[in-house]
Amino acid sequence: MTQIRLRNSLTRKVEDFHPIDAKNVRMYLCGPTVYDRAHLGNARPVVVFDVLYRLLRHVYGPEHVTYVRNFTDVDDKINATALARKEAGAEGSLEELIRARTEETIGWYHADMDALGALRPDREPRATDYIGAMIAMIETLIEDGHAYAAEGHVLFRVRSYKDYGALSGRTVDDMMAGARVEVAPFKEDPMDFVLWKPSDEGLPGWDSPWGRGRPGWHIECSAMSYELLGASFDIHGGGIDLQFPHHENEIAQSCCAHPEGSFANYWLHNEMLQVEGKKMSKSLGNFFTVRDLLDGHDGEKGIPGEVIRFVFLQTHYTKPMDWTAEKARAAAATLRKWRTAVDGVTPSPEAAPEVIAALADDLNTAGAIAALHQIDDPAVLKASAAMLGLLDDGMGDWAKPRYVKSDELYVGTNEMSARRIDELVLLRTQAKADRDFKRADEIRDGLSRAGIILKDSKDKTEWEFGLEVDLSKLEGL
Ligand SMILES: [Zn+2]
Repeated sequence: MTQIRLRNSLTRKVEDFHPIDAKNVRMYLCGPTVYDRAHLGNARPVVVFDVLYRLLRHVYGPEHVTYVRNFTDVDDKINATALARKEAGAEGSLEELIRARTEETIGWYHADMDALGALRPDREPRATDYIGAMIAMIETLIEDGHAYAAEGHVLFRVRSYKDYGALSGRTVDDMMAGARVEVAPFKEDPMDFVLWKPSDEGLPGWDSPWGRGRPGWHIECSAMSYELLGASFDIHGGGIDLQFPHHENEIAQSCCAHPEGSFANYWLHNEMLQVEGKKMSKSLGNFFTVRDLLDGHDGEKGIPGEVIRFVFLQTHYTKPMDWTAEKARAAAATLRKWRTAVDGVTPSPEAAPEVIAALADDLNTAGAIAALHQIDDPAVLKASAAMLGLLDDGMGDWAKPRYVKSDELYVGTNEMSARRIDELVLLRTQAKADRDFKRADEIRDGLSRAGIILKDSKDKTEWEFGLEVDLSKLEGL
Protein backbone atom coordinates (compact mmCIF):
# COMPACT_ATOMS: atom_id res chain seq x y z
CA MET A 1 0.00 0.00 0.00
CA THR A 2 1.20 3.51 -0.82
CA GLN A 3 2.54 5.30 2.27
CA ILE A 4 1.14 8.84 2.35
CA ARG A 5 3.23 11.50 4.08
CA LEU A 6 1.69 14.77 5.24
CA ARG A 7 2.97 17.91 6.89
CA ASN A 8 1.27 18.00 10.27
CA SER A 9 0.86 21.55 11.60
CA LEU A 10 0.70 20.11 15.14
CA THR A 11 4.26 18.79 15.00
CA ARG A 12 5.47 21.05 12.17
CA LYS A 13 6.94 17.94 10.52
CA VAL A 14 6.18 15.83 7.48
CA GLU A 15 5.00 12.53 8.96
CA ASP A 16 3.87 9.13 7.74
CA PHE A 17 0.10 9.10 7.71
CA HIS A 18 -1.46 6.25 9.71
CA PRO A 19 -5.25 6.37 9.89
CA ILE A 20 -7.03 5.31 13.08
CA ASP A 21 -9.07 2.86 11.01
CA ALA A 22 -8.00 2.10 7.43
CA LYS A 23 -11.57 0.96 6.76
CA ASN A 24 -12.90 4.43 7.67
CA VAL A 25 -10.43 7.24 7.04
CA ARG A 26 -12.00 10.48 8.27
CA MET A 27 -11.32 14.04 7.18
CA TYR A 28 -12.94 17.34 8.19
CA LEU A 29 -12.55 20.65 6.38
CA CYS A 30 -13.89 23.98 7.63
CA GLY A 31 -16.39 25.04 5.02
CA PRO A 32 -17.76 28.40 3.92
CA THR A 33 -19.97 30.88 5.72
CA VAL A 34 -22.80 31.09 3.23
CA TYR A 35 -23.54 34.80 2.99
CA ASP A 36 -22.12 35.59 -0.46
CA ARG A 37 -20.24 34.21 -3.47
CA ALA A 38 -16.96 32.43 -2.73
CA HIS A 39 -13.91 34.48 -3.69
CA LEU A 40 -10.92 32.93 -5.40
CA GLY A 41 -9.01 32.49 -2.14
CA ASN A 42 -11.90 30.46 -0.68
CA ALA A 43 -11.50 27.97 -3.51
CA ARG A 44 -7.89 27.07 -2.72
CA PRO A 45 -8.57 24.77 0.26
CA VAL A 46 -11.43 23.18 -1.67
CA VAL A 47 -9.10 22.19 -4.51
CA VAL A 48 -6.20 21.21 -2.21
CA PHE A 49 -8.32 18.94 -0.01
CA ASP A 50 -10.11 17.56 -3.05
CA VAL A 51 -6.75 16.22 -4.24
CA LEU A 52 -6.10 14.74 -0.80
CA TYR A 53 -9.58 13.19 -0.85
CA ARG A 54 -8.86 11.62 -4.26
CA LEU A 55 -5.53 10.29 -2.98
CA LEU A 56 -7.10 8.81 0.17
CA ARG A 57 -9.80 7.17 -1.94
CA HIS A 58 -7.14 5.79 -4.24
CA VAL A 59 -5.06 4.34 -1.41
CA TYR A 60 -7.79 3.13 0.99
CA GLY A 61 -10.68 2.62 -1.43
CA PRO A 62 -13.50 5.07 -2.16
CA GLU A 63 -15.88 3.38 0.28
CA HIS A 64 -13.35 3.67 3.13
CA VAL A 65 -13.03 7.47 3.23
CA THR A 66 -15.44 9.93 4.88
CA TYR A 67 -14.97 13.58 3.99
CA VAL A 68 -17.02 16.17 5.88
CA ARG A 69 -17.17 19.86 5.01
CA ASN A 70 -19.64 22.08 6.82
CA PHE A 71 -21.77 25.05 5.84
CA THR A 72 -21.84 27.84 8.39
CA ASP A 73 -25.38 29.09 7.95
CA VAL A 74 -25.68 31.05 11.18
CA ASP A 75 -23.69 34.26 11.04
CA ASP A 76 -24.19 37.96 11.56
CA LYS A 77 -23.35 38.73 7.91
CA ILE A 78 -26.16 36.42 6.75
CA ASN A 79 -28.51 38.11 9.22
CA ALA A 80 -27.48 41.54 7.97
CA THR A 81 -28.17 40.61 4.31
CA ALA A 82 -31.56 39.15 5.18
CA LEU A 83 -32.43 42.17 7.32
CA ALA A 84 -31.47 44.55 4.51
CA ARG A 85 -33.74 42.61 2.14
CA LYS A 86 -36.59 42.75 4.63
CA GLU A 87 -36.16 46.48 5.05
CA ALA A 88 -36.16 46.84 1.26
CA GLY A 89 -39.62 45.28 1.28
CA ALA A 90 -38.89 41.59 0.63
CA GLU A 91 -41.75 39.26 1.58
CA GLY A 92 -41.55 36.65 4.33
CA SER A 93 -40.31 36.45 7.90
CA LEU A 94 -36.69 37.13 8.77
CA GLU A 95 -36.16 33.36 9.28
CA GLU A 96 -37.51 32.68 5.80
CA LEU A 97 -35.32 35.38 4.28
CA ILE A 98 -32.27 33.99 6.06
CA ARG A 99 -33.08 30.51 4.81
CA ALA A 100 -33.58 31.84 1.28
CA ARG A 101 -30.22 33.63 1.41
CA THR A 102 -28.32 30.56 2.66
CA GLU A 103 -30.06 28.26 0.14
CA GLU A 104 -29.15 30.62 -2.68
CA THR A 105 -25.53 30.87 -1.53
CA ILE A 106 -25.15 27.10 -1.07
CA GLY A 107 -26.45 26.66 -4.64
CA TRP A 108 -23.83 29.11 -5.94
CA TYR A 109 -21.11 27.44 -3.92
CA HIS A 110 -21.93 24.01 -5.30
CA ALA A 111 -22.05 25.30 -8.87
CA ASP A 112 -18.72 27.13 -8.49
CA MET A 113 -16.84 24.27 -6.80
CA ASP A 114 -18.30 21.73 -9.25
CA ALA A 115 -16.93 23.92 -12.05
CA LEU A 116 -13.47 23.63 -10.46
CA GLY A 117 -13.79 19.84 -10.61
CA ALA A 118 -14.03 19.35 -6.83
CA LEU A 119 -15.84 16.19 -5.76
CA ARG A 120 -18.66 16.82 -3.31
CA PRO A 121 -17.77 15.72 0.24
CA ASP A 122 -19.59 12.70 1.67
CA ARG A 123 -21.35 14.89 4.22
CA GLU A 124 -22.06 18.63 4.12
CA PRO A 125 -23.69 19.40 7.47
CA ARG A 126 -25.32 22.76 8.10
CA ALA A 127 -24.68 24.38 11.46
CA THR A 128 -28.37 25.12 12.02
CA ASP A 129 -29.12 21.38 11.94
CA TYR A 130 -26.71 20.78 14.86
CA ILE A 131 -27.76 23.41 17.39
CA GLY A 132 -28.87 20.67 19.86
CA ALA A 133 -25.46 18.99 19.64
CA MET A 134 -23.74 22.33 20.26
CA ILE A 135 -25.88 23.03 23.33
CA ALA A 136 -25.10 19.53 24.69
CA MET A 137 -21.38 20.10 24.19
CA ILE A 138 -21.51 23.51 25.90
CA GLU A 139 -23.35 21.97 28.87
CA THR A 140 -20.61 19.37 29.26
CA LEU A 141 -17.95 22.09 29.14
CA ILE A 142 -19.74 24.05 31.88
CA GLU A 143 -20.15 20.94 34.07
CA ASP A 144 -16.44 20.19 33.83
CA GLY A 145 -15.36 23.75 34.63
CA HIS A 146 -14.14 24.61 31.12
CA ALA A 147 -16.85 27.15 30.44
CA TYR A 148 -19.09 29.59 32.34
CA ALA A 149 -22.32 31.42 31.69
CA ALA A 150 -22.51 35.18 32.18
CA GLU A 151 -25.12 37.71 31.06
CA GLY A 152 -26.74 35.40 28.50
CA HIS A 153 -23.33 34.43 27.09
CA VAL A 154 -21.35 31.26 27.62
CA LEU A 155 -17.59 31.61 27.44
CA PHE A 156 -14.82 29.07 27.15
CA ARG A 157 -12.29 29.40 29.98
CA VAL A 158 -9.09 29.34 27.88
CA ARG A 159 -6.74 28.95 30.84
CA SER A 160 -8.54 25.75 31.86
CA TYR A 161 -6.97 23.97 28.88
CA LYS A 162 -3.25 23.68 29.40
CA ASP A 163 -2.37 22.88 25.77
CA TYR A 164 -4.08 25.96 24.38
CA GLY A 165 -1.81 27.43 21.69
CA ALA A 166 0.00 24.15 20.87
CA LEU A 167 -1.16 24.21 17.24
CA SER A 168 0.16 27.72 16.63
CA GLY A 169 3.21 27.09 18.78
CA ARG A 170 2.54 30.08 21.02
CA THR A 171 1.59 30.62 24.62
CA VAL A 172 -1.66 32.22 25.69
CA ASP A 173 0.21 35.37 26.71
CA ASP A 174 1.97 35.61 23.31
CA MET A 175 -1.33 35.20 21.54
CA MET A 176 -2.99 37.78 23.67
CA ALA A 177 -0.33 40.31 22.76
CA GLY A 178 -0.89 39.75 19.04
CA ALA A 179 -4.62 39.17 18.84
CA ARG A 180 -7.58 41.43 18.67
CA VAL A 181 -9.28 40.20 21.80
CA GLU A 182 -12.57 41.60 22.79
CA VAL A 183 -12.62 42.86 26.34
CA ALA A 184 -16.05 42.53 27.90
CA PRO A 185 -17.12 43.02 31.51
CA PHE A 186 -18.59 39.50 31.70
CA LYS A 187 -15.33 37.81 30.67
CA GLU A 188 -13.09 36.35 33.37
CA ASP A 189 -10.13 36.67 31.02
CA PRO A 190 -9.86 38.65 27.77
CA MET A 191 -8.78 35.49 25.89
CA ASP A 192 -11.97 33.60 26.79
CA PHE A 193 -14.09 33.14 23.70
CA VAL A 194 -17.81 32.89 23.04
CA LEU A 195 -19.57 29.54 22.85
CA TRP A 196 -23.07 30.99 23.00
CA LYS A 197 -24.45 34.51 22.74
CA PRO A 198 -27.87 36.07 23.27
CA SER A 199 -30.12 36.97 20.32
CA ASP A 200 -32.48 39.87 20.67
CA GLU A 201 -35.86 40.06 18.98
CA GLY A 202 -34.88 40.73 15.37
CA LEU A 203 -32.22 38.00 15.20
CA PRO A 204 -32.40 34.24 14.71
CA GLY A 205 -32.19 32.40 17.99
CA TRP A 206 -32.74 29.06 19.67
CA ASP A 207 -33.93 28.32 23.19
CA SER A 208 -31.15 27.20 25.48
CA PRO A 209 -30.44 26.87 29.22
CA TRP A 210 -28.91 30.38 28.95
CA GLY A 211 -31.87 32.00 27.25
CA ARG A 212 -32.70 32.54 23.61
CA GLY A 213 -29.49 32.83 21.64
CA ARG A 214 -27.20 31.47 18.95
CA PRO A 215 -23.89 29.62 18.92
CA GLY A 216 -20.45 31.15 18.45
CA TRP A 217 -18.68 30.14 15.27
CA HIS A 218 -15.97 27.86 16.72
CA ILE A 219 -18.31 25.46 18.52
CA GLU A 220 -20.01 24.54 15.24
CA CYS A 221 -17.06 22.62 13.84
CA SER A 222 -16.41 20.86 17.16
CA ALA A 223 -20.03 19.70 17.41
CA MET A 224 -20.44 18.67 13.78
CA SER A 225 -17.13 16.81 13.56
CA TYR A 226 -17.96 14.94 16.80
CA GLU A 227 -21.42 13.97 15.55
CA LEU A 228 -20.21 12.80 12.13
CA LEU A 229 -16.64 11.60 12.72
CA GLY A 230 -16.40 10.87 16.45
CA ALA A 231 -14.14 12.05 19.27
CA SER A 232 -11.00 11.06 17.33
CA PHE A 233 -10.54 11.33 13.60
CA ASP A 234 -7.67 11.53 11.17
CA ILE A 235 -7.32 14.80 9.28
CA HIS A 236 -8.53 18.32 9.92
CA GLY A 237 -7.90 20.89 7.22
CA GLY A 238 -8.36 24.55 6.51
CA GLY A 239 -6.66 27.74 5.44
CA ILE A 240 -3.71 28.97 7.51
CA ASP A 241 -5.80 32.03 8.43
CA LEU A 242 -8.03 29.70 10.47
CA GLN A 243 -5.21 28.23 12.55
CA PHE A 244 -5.62 30.88 15.21
CA PRO A 245 -8.02 31.44 16.78
CA HIS A 246 -10.55 29.15 15.05
CA HIS A 247 -8.60 25.88 15.10
CA GLU A 248 -7.03 26.48 18.51
CA ASN A 249 -10.54 27.01 19.85
CA GLU A 250 -11.89 23.91 18.10
CA ILE A 251 -9.13 21.82 19.71
CA ALA A 252 -9.72 23.29 23.16
CA GLN A 253 -13.49 22.73 23.02
CA SER A 254 -13.31 19.22 21.58
CA CYS A 255 -10.50 17.93 23.79
CA CYS A 256 -12.14 19.31 26.95
CA ALA A 257 -15.64 18.07 26.08
CA HIS A 258 -14.37 14.66 24.89
CA PRO A 259 -11.15 13.90 26.78
CA GLU A 260 -11.54 10.25 25.71
CA GLY A 261 -10.63 11.30 22.15
CA SER A 262 -7.70 13.03 20.48
CA PHE A 263 -9.83 15.17 18.14
CA ALA A 264 -7.82 15.44 14.88
CA ASN A 265 -4.48 13.62 14.62
CA TYR A 266 -3.17 15.46 11.53
CA TRP A 267 -3.74 19.15 10.92
CA LEU A 268 -3.17 20.46 7.41
CA HIS A 269 -3.16 24.13 6.50
CA ASN A 270 -3.00 25.68 3.08
CA GLU A 271 -1.30 29.03 2.55
CA MET A 272 -3.10 32.06 1.16
CA LEU A 273 -3.66 33.25 -2.39
CA GLN A 274 -2.42 36.44 -4.01
CA VAL A 275 -3.26 38.02 -7.35
CA GLU A 276 -0.44 39.25 -9.60
CA GLY A 277 1.88 39.42 -6.57
CA LYS A 278 -0.50 41.37 -4.36
CA LYS A 279 -2.88 40.48 -1.60
CA MET A 280 -6.39 40.24 -3.00
CA SER A 281 -8.43 43.16 -1.73
CA LYS A 282 -11.39 45.23 -2.81
CA SER A 283 -9.41 48.46 -2.44
CA LEU A 284 -6.70 47.24 -4.87
CA GLY A 285 -9.34 46.34 -7.45
CA ASN A 286 -7.97 42.78 -7.74
CA PHE A 287 -10.69 41.09 -5.72
CA PHE A 288 -12.80 38.62 -7.61
CA THR A 289 -15.09 35.73 -6.98
CA VAL A 290 -14.75 32.28 -8.51
CA ARG A 291 -17.82 33.11 -10.61
CA ASP A 292 -16.23 36.37 -11.89
CA LEU A 293 -13.29 34.36 -13.11
CA LEU A 294 -15.39 31.57 -14.65
CA ASP A 295 -17.78 33.90 -16.47
CA GLY A 296 -15.41 36.78 -17.22
CA HIS A 297 -15.37 40.16 -15.50
CA ASP A 298 -14.28 43.75 -16.11
CA GLY A 299 -13.75 43.10 -19.80
CA GLU A 300 -11.66 39.96 -19.16
CA LYS A 301 -12.75 36.72 -20.80
CA GLY A 302 -13.95 33.83 -18.65
CA ILE A 303 -11.45 31.17 -17.60
CA PRO A 304 -12.49 27.49 -17.59
CA GLY A 305 -12.66 25.85 -14.15
CA GLU A 306 -10.16 23.22 -15.20
CA VAL A 307 -7.62 25.93 -16.05
CA ILE A 308 -8.14 27.61 -12.66
CA ARG A 309 -7.65 24.24 -10.97
CA PHE A 310 -4.44 23.55 -12.90
CA VAL A 311 -3.00 26.94 -11.93
CA PHE A 312 -3.81 26.27 -8.26
CA LEU A 313 -2.13 22.87 -8.32
CA GLN A 314 1.13 24.20 -9.76
CA THR A 315 1.97 25.63 -6.33
CA HIS A 316 2.48 23.47 -3.25
CA TYR A 317 -0.32 24.01 -0.75
CA THR A 318 2.06 25.14 2.00
CA LYS A 319 3.35 28.00 -0.19
CA PRO A 320 1.55 31.25 -0.97
CA MET A 321 -0.01 30.91 -4.39
CA ASP A 322 0.13 33.74 -6.88
CA TRP A 323 -2.69 33.89 -9.42
CA THR A 324 -1.55 35.50 -12.68
CA ALA A 325 -3.14 35.85 -16.10
CA GLU A 326 0.08 34.52 -17.64
CA LYS A 327 -0.14 31.29 -15.60
CA ALA A 328 -3.74 30.84 -16.75
CA ARG A 329 -2.70 31.27 -20.37
CA ALA A 330 0.12 28.73 -20.07
CA ALA A 331 -2.13 26.29 -18.17
CA ALA A 332 -4.77 26.49 -20.89
CA ALA A 333 -2.15 25.74 -23.55
CA THR A 334 -0.91 22.67 -21.65
CA LEU A 335 -4.40 21.36 -21.03
CA ARG A 336 -5.38 21.79 -24.66
CA LYS A 337 -2.33 19.82 -25.72
CA TRP A 338 -3.15 17.03 -23.27
CA ARG A 339 -6.81 17.03 -24.19
CA THR A 340 -5.85 16.66 -27.83
CA ALA A 341 -3.72 13.65 -26.88
CA VAL A 342 -6.37 11.90 -24.74
CA ASP A 343 -9.37 12.67 -26.94
CA GLY A 344 -11.50 9.51 -27.24
CA VAL A 345 -8.97 7.48 -25.21
CA THR A 346 -10.08 5.06 -22.48
CA PRO A 347 -7.98 5.62 -19.34
CA SER A 348 -5.65 2.84 -18.30
CA PRO A 349 -6.61 0.97 -15.09
CA GLU A 350 -3.63 2.38 -13.18
CA ALA A 351 -2.23 5.88 -12.82
CA ALA A 352 1.52 6.37 -13.34
CA PRO A 353 3.45 5.42 -10.16
CA GLU A 354 5.45 8.68 -10.38
CA VAL A 355 2.26 10.71 -10.12
CA ILE A 356 1.01 8.73 -7.11
CA ALA A 357 4.44 8.98 -5.47
CA ALA A 358 4.51 12.76 -5.89
CA LEU A 359 1.05 13.17 -4.39
CA ALA A 360 1.82 10.78 -1.52
CA ASP A 361 4.83 12.99 -0.74
CA ASP A 362 2.83 15.66 1.13
CA LEU A 363 0.66 16.44 -1.90
CA ASN A 364 3.45 17.50 -4.20
CA THR A 365 1.02 18.57 -6.91
CA ALA A 366 3.68 20.48 -8.84
CA GLY A 367 5.78 17.30 -8.94
CA ALA A 368 2.75 15.32 -10.08
CA ILE A 369 2.16 17.80 -12.92
CA ALA A 370 5.84 17.53 -13.90
CA ALA A 371 5.38 13.75 -13.98
CA LEU A 372 2.30 14.12 -16.22
CA HIS A 373 4.45 15.99 -18.74
CA GLN A 374 6.70 12.91 -19.00
CA ILE A 375 3.91 10.46 -19.85
CA ASP A 376 3.76 9.39 -23.50
CA ASP A 377 0.87 6.91 -23.34
CA PRO A 378 -2.43 8.87 -23.58
CA ALA A 379 -4.31 6.15 -21.65
CA VAL A 380 -1.89 6.47 -18.72
CA LEU A 381 -1.95 10.26 -18.98
CA LYS A 382 -5.72 10.27 -18.67
CA ALA A 383 -5.75 7.91 -15.67
CA SER A 384 -2.95 9.85 -13.95
CA ALA A 385 -4.47 13.30 -14.56
CA ALA A 386 -7.65 12.03 -12.89
CA MET A 387 -5.70 11.81 -9.61
CA LEU A 388 -5.46 15.61 -9.82
CA GLY A 389 -9.03 16.03 -11.04
CA LEU A 390 -7.79 17.02 -14.51
CA LEU A 391 -8.80 15.87 -18.04
CA ASP A 392 -12.14 14.71 -16.73
CA ASP A 393 -14.63 14.02 -19.55
CA GLY A 394 -17.19 16.32 -17.96
CA MET A 395 -14.86 19.33 -17.86
CA GLY A 396 -13.43 19.45 -21.35
CA ASP A 397 -16.00 21.35 -23.39
CA TRP A 398 -13.94 24.50 -23.27
CA ALA A 399 -11.05 22.76 -25.05
CA LYS A 400 -13.14 21.45 -27.92
CA PRO A 401 -12.76 23.45 -31.11
CA ARG A 402 -15.75 25.75 -31.51
CA TYR A 403 -16.18 24.88 -35.15
CA VAL A 404 -15.64 21.59 -36.85
CA LYS A 405 -15.98 21.18 -40.57
CA SER A 406 -16.81 17.71 -41.77
CA ASP A 407 -14.28 17.32 -44.51
CA GLU A 408 -11.39 14.93 -44.39
CA LEU A 409 -9.14 17.29 -42.50
CA TYR A 410 -11.33 18.66 -39.72
CA VAL A 411 -13.62 15.71 -38.99
CA GLY A 412 -14.51 16.48 -35.51
CA THR A 413 -11.71 15.46 -33.25
CA ASN A 414 -8.98 17.48 -31.65
CA GLU A 415 -6.44 15.23 -33.28
CA MET A 416 -7.70 16.10 -36.75
CA SER A 417 -7.67 19.80 -35.85
CA ALA A 418 -4.10 19.43 -34.67
CA ARG A 419 -3.15 17.79 -37.96
CA ARG A 420 -4.68 20.65 -39.90
CA ILE A 421 -2.68 23.14 -37.85
CA ASP A 422 0.52 21.12 -38.31
CA GLU A 423 -0.11 21.22 -42.03
CA LEU A 424 -0.55 25.01 -42.04
CA VAL A 425 2.60 25.50 -40.00
CA LEU A 426 4.52 23.42 -42.54
CA LEU A 427 3.01 25.42 -45.43
CA ARG A 428 4.18 28.60 -43.74
CA THR A 429 7.70 27.24 -43.26
CA GLN A 430 7.74 26.25 -46.93
CA ALA A 431 6.47 29.71 -48.01
CA LYS A 432 9.26 31.34 -46.00
CA ALA A 433 11.83 29.04 -47.63
CA ASP A 434 10.38 30.07 -51.00
CA ARG A 435 10.69 33.72 -49.92
CA ASP A 436 6.92 34.08 -50.36
CA PHE A 437 6.60 36.26 -47.26
CA LYS A 438 3.13 37.49 -48.14
CA ARG A 439 1.80 33.93 -48.01
CA ALA A 440 3.79 33.14 -44.86
CA ASP A 441 2.33 36.19 -43.08
CA GLU A 442 -1.16 35.33 -44.29
CA ILE A 443 -0.95 31.88 -42.70
CA ARG A 444 0.57 33.28 -39.49
CA ASP A 445 -2.20 35.89 -39.17
CA GLY A 446 -4.89 33.31 -39.91
CA LEU A 447 -3.57 30.97 -37.22
CA SER A 448 -3.36 33.85 -34.78
CA ARG A 449 -6.98 34.85 -35.45
CA ALA A 450 -8.00 31.25 -34.78
CA GLY A 451 -6.24 31.38 -31.39
CA ILE A 452 -3.15 29.37 -32.33
CA ILE A 453 0.09 30.71 -30.89
CA LEU A 454 3.23 30.13 -32.96
CA LYS A 455 6.64 29.88 -31.36
CA ASP A 456 9.49 30.30 -33.82
CA SER A 457 12.94 29.17 -32.84
CA LYS A 458 16.09 28.94 -34.95
CA ASP A 459 15.34 25.70 -36.71
CA LYS A 460 11.69 24.95 -36.05
CA THR A 461 8.24 26.35 -35.37
CA GLU A 462 6.09 24.98 -32.55
CA TRP A 463 2.51 25.91 -31.85
CA GLU A 464 0.04 25.77 -28.98
CA PHE A 465 -3.59 26.57 -28.41
CA GLY A 466 -4.38 29.93 -26.83
CA LEU A 467 -7.21 30.28 -24.33
CA GLU A 468 -9.79 31.11 -27.02
CA VAL A 469 -9.74 28.91 -30.08
CA ASP A 470 -12.06 29.28 -33.06
CA LEU A 471 -11.00 26.98 -35.87
CA SER A 472 -13.59 28.39 -38.25
CA LYS A 473 -11.08 31.21 -38.76
CA LEU A 474 -8.75 28.72 -40.47
CA GLU A 475 -11.17 28.33 -43.34
CA GLY A 476 -9.84 29.53 -46.68
CA LEU A 477 -6.21 29.58 -45.53
ZN1 LIG B 1 -13.93 25.01 11.56
